Amino acid sequence: PPTLVWFRDDLRLADNPALTAAAGGDGPIVAVYVLDEESPGLRPLGGAARWWLAGSLRALATDLRARGVPLVLRRGPAAQRISELVEEVGAAEVVWNRRYDPAAAAVDDTVADVLAARGVGVATFQAALLVEPAQMRTKTGGPYGVFTPFLRALLALPEPRFPLPAPKAVRSLAGVPSDRLEDWDLEPTAPDWAAGFRSVWRPGEAGAGDRLTAFLDEGLKGYATLRDRPDRTSTSRLSPHLRFGEISPFQVFHAARHAREAGRGGTTGQDVDKFVAELVWREFAYHLLAQNPRLATANHQPRFDAFPWRSDASALHAWQRGRTGYPIVDAGMRELWTTGWMHNRVRMVVASFLVKHLLIDWREGERWFWDTLVDADPANNAASWQWVAGSGADAAPYFRIFNPVLQGEKFDPDGAYVKHWIPALRRLGAQHVHRPFDTPPLELAAAGVTLGRDYPAPLVDHKVARERALAALATIKT
Ligand code: FAD
Repeated sequence: PPTLVWFRDDLRLADNPALTAAAGGDGPIVAVYVLDEESPGLRPLGGAARWWLAGSLRALATDLRARGVPLVLRRGPAAQRISELVEEVGAAEVVWNRRYDPAAAAVDDTVADVLAARGVGVATFQAALLVEPAQMRTKTGGPYGVFTPFLRALLALPEPRFPLPAPKAVRSLAGVPSDRLEDWDLEPTAPDWAAGFRSVWRPGEAGAGDRLTAFLDEGLKGYATLRDRPDRTSTSRLSPHLRFGEISPFQVFHAARHAREAGRGGTTGQDVDKFVAELVWREFAYHLLAQNPRLATANHQPRFDAFPWRSDASALHAWQRGRTGYPIVDAGMRELWTTGWMHNRVRMVVASFLVKHLLIDWREGERWFWDTLVDADPANNAASWQWVAGSGADAAPYFRIFNPVLQGEKFDPDGAYVKHWIPALRRLGAQHVHRPFDTPPLELAAAGVTLGRDYPAPLVDHKVARERALAALATIKT
């Protein structure tokens, strides 16, 4: 009898232990993906992530087809769809790689119960995290709340296993009915806002592998110092690929370690350690999400429940559309809107600007990112927003308020990043480009910039906003 391989956030053939186990069995396999927007507690994907999912499924279907395996698509509550399919094909077993978002894990538990009740076997595997949250416990037996000890403890464990190769020969069952991907409406039609995405990204396992190779050749060298520079392509841009499991953290971890041993492209131990630490931030975010299933909606530190957030729809809109009058903020928000991605340093700056300069609840920002990021991730996004807002575990303290002008000058010293995303400012010199509102009128005129016409005047004054944020914080101090 066939084995059902249920693909979810693991849209790859290599280092896919569930697929490898099924391919090594006696029976044929049936590969299935279920678009589940109905099971209770699941958060529907945002627009940008839906676009990515479509491309990723198309790539997976192509890669499976090359091995003679059709990808079966079904839509609806997973427990129902999986058990129907088991019945249709007479499967004896269902296999999958585990998910760690508590809402998704609850769905998986339900599916496992339904199958067990019908005498169908279930086998599940570790593939999405180097270490599962339940395996990471402090000396007193509790979960970690601080990153550095978490990192140290993770690195002290036996080295993560080596990645598995993609299975060579796979027997499969033909003729199983499938939805058509086009009928799922995952991609925009009119307006087609994804044109900018297509020019930057190639969803799927092959795209992920190329991205990793390019990073090892060109980006990893110097990563420890250049990773904060949005004007350079010094980070891996693997985040959406990791989000959808087109590449596994095991593959990335070992490739980076190997690059050090091989001295590839002048890579140093420091570069690799820093990069591995970033991968471990991803692990830590899932560890936090496992502790607080409402990480995207509930303050990790409850004292923030009393924070006097402002409701200001027009300021929120200006932030979303990159019209705050602070170039580094606006460049980031425009990069996000156009490409579905933003550099990490700039994510920190724009998020800080929303929650501190505009005093808008971090959850508004989290929701906007959820809808517009191709890498929108239930753990990383929520944990990072809480980190910036100061409400999270081991968070940046709220009173540390970024000055967006100085952040711009430090991390985009020539203004190349800002000028790329805000062409109206391209003729301003490096000394003015991050502070057009402070630029003498003659210089502005020479650069062809009229504030309020070509580029907005600032929404708030930095000093005033800073005082206001500190006063708001004082009202909740314990
Ligand atoms: P690299 O520097 O090449 O890092 C490699 C990988 O490590 C990344 O692909 C990512 O999987 C992981 N990683 C790196 N930094 C972090 C971090 N700070 N926290 C958790 N994992 C990290 N990342 C997401 O994947 N999805 C999100 O929805 C998301 N939302 C964010 C929201 C805010 C407000 C902030 C400040 C950060 C957010 N991040 C998110 C984290 C980080 O910005 C991105 O992971 C990173 O910019 C992705 O680029 P990269 O792949 O080039 O990273």
